[in-house]
Amino acid sequence: MPEVLVAECPECGAEIEVTDVIEGEIIECPDCGVELEVRSLNPFVLELAPQEEEDWGE
Ligand SMILES: [Zn+2]
Repeated sequence: MPEVLVAECPECGAEIEVTDVIEGEIIECPDCGVELEVRSLNPFVLELAPQEEEDWGE
């Protein structure tokens, strides 16, 4: 039976459930689309993935 891991998106606060990840994996928040890095599996911790600077100021 797959283990379901649940963590909160640090960006939007949505609850994210994943079943098959490894430490260091990058996943995407289904709610806000931000990229999150799996920092730890036990406890399950998600952290904002380092992003390249994007120029939004157009
Ligand atoms: Zn989010």
